Amino acid sequence: MTRLLFVLVLVGCNLVEAEDVRPLEPVPEEYAGWHAEVEACLGRSRPFHRINFYVAATLVLDGVDVGGFYRAPRRITMREDHVYYPSSVKEELAHYVLRSGAHPPELLRCKAL
Ligand SMILES: [Zn+2]
Repeated sequence: MTRLLFVLVLVGCNLVEAEDVRPLEPVPEEYAGWHAEVEACLGRSRPFHRINFYVAATLVLDGVDVGGFYRAPRRITMREDHVYYPSSVKEELAHYVLRSGAHPPELLRCKAL
């Protein structure tokens, strides 16, 4: 829990370091289905097609490696070794749907489906 709170604060401060960032193309076919699952779990919706996906070789929040990062209003960056890791992608999709970098209980529950 301490680590989650730590990441949350840093996301709010946007202290992000990323290497070799480029658009994620093509967006993996699995993502639309994962997005629909997250929307159903959260009981909220937000258009999938409006998300801008990026991939990075490394993704660090003030020295802490993370698998993904959501930046408002609609940008998701995945670390390249987490592009096909469902819980990492679903966490960022949940941040997008909730319009927040916070980690409420429903986000933690829905990313694990
Ligand atoms: Zn998160």
